[in-house]
Amino acid sequence: MDYQDRVLEEVEMKTTWKCCRCLPDSLQNVPIFSALIKYNQLHESIFGKFPYGLPPKPKDWSKIDMTATEFLKKNGLEILEPVFLYTQQVQGYGLLDQIPAFYLLWWHHPDVINGTVRGFLGSGEYLVSVLKNGYQSLWKKMVERHSTEVNYITGAKVTGVKRTPTVEVKYMHAGVEKTLEADIFISAIDLRRFRNLITDLDPEEEQLFGRLTSSSLTTTLYKGKTTEHEHTVEWWFSRMGNPVSPPGSTGKPVAQFYGHRNSRMVARPSMPSNGVELRVAYQYMDRPIESGDASKLLTTLENLTTAGEEKVDVLLQKPWDYFSRFDAQGLREGLLWKILDLQGQRNTGFIGSSVCFEHSFVALSLPRSAQCPCL
Ligand SMILES: Cc1cc2nc3c(=O)[nH]c(=O)nc-3n(C[C@H](O)[C@H](O)[C@H](O)COP(=O)(O)OP(=O)(O)OC[C@H]3O[C@@H](n4cnc5c(N)ncnc54)[C@H](O)[C@@H]3O)c2cc1C
Repeated sequence: MDYQDRVLEEVEMKTTWKCCRCLPDSLQNVPIFSALIKYNQLHESIFGKFPYGLPPKPKDWSKIDMTATEFLKKNGLEILEPVFLYTQQVQGYGLLDQIPAFYLLWWHHPDVINGTVRGFLGSGEYLVSVLKNGYQSLWKKMVERHSTEVNYITGAKVTGVKRTPTVEVKYMHAGVEKTLEADIFISAIDLRRFRNLITDLDPEEEQLFGRLTSSSLTTTLYKGKTTEHEHTVEWWFSRMGNPVSPPGSTGKPVAQFYGHRNSRMVARPSMPSNGVELRVAYQYMDRPIESGDASKLLTTLENLTTAGEEKVDVLLQKPWDYFSRFDAQGLREGLLWKILDLQGQRNTGFIGSSVCFEHSFVALSLPRSAQCPCL
């Protein structure tokens, strides 16, 4: 079923008496839009008006100190659950019934909601767009454009960073250990996993970054036969947050494959199928990656490709530590905003998704905003 039809049908079940369900589903756009407007008003009453980015610390936590699902229920916005299931949960930004409401409100800034409404009303704005030459093309272009001003060193592994009294970065490059001296160190690493690379990490920083948690998102590139119902993307919502034990395995269950994207149809929709499709499958777990996950995830993927596929040929698999964040207690303690106080101290600036949000645009907006004063 088409995602939009599914949303309308689910909303109809919630808003309409049985006797009226023969009316066109599209009528449900009215209560959805009105709930979105109410959501925006609520957002403004909690955070005030602010440009897209990290929300200001709310004065009254009691309004949002709950999960996303509880927040929607408490505010009579349950009909938006099928919408956010896709725009929040499927993106890997937490399971709605577990993720603190704050992360729903951060990602769904009123600008995003307004853009979505305008898009549905036919403004011609893109709701989702994809770089036609792939994500890497963006970075390659940037390197090309700025190569006369910036000395890029790629393929190096940083082994240690000392920041005071002056910055010294040790790294391995082509088998040789080298040292770089600098005035400012800008950390863009995942501070949950790699903060120990900073050899003079302050206890204050350790206490903060040690509180980060994350999820795991696994992507698998595989080949499968073209099916009769080939789509750009397909999602199985109920599989998310519903881990299983692969047959014959013991120990903790792992993520089911909850969706896949057809690379040909996304990037080259006019290209005809040759009978074989290249797809990316997604598996999500609401906890950081643990050792041993990778092989179990693979078995789960191979055993559960029930989407009309006989056999799949796995080409590449990558489990990602995904969506660094604080838990509800950490948010209440204001840890996210404490990172702002660290900016510029000890010759250091912190950027990247582990101190911000797992999205390129949001992560890039942090240094552009006043939140990283050393930049
Ligand atoms: C599967 C997946 C799909 C996504 N889809 C989208 C999407 O559609 N749209 C979107 O906007 N965002 C998407 N994202 C999110 C986006 O990719 C990230 O939010 C963004 O890349 C974060 O940028 P970053 O610079 O913080 O971290 P990263 O891009 O993770 O960069 C950190 C870098 O630090 C390097 N590093 C770590 N340790 C060392 C070391 N010791 N020495 C040298 N280098 C080191 C790592 O190798 C890495 O290259 C997706 C993420 C994933 C995992």
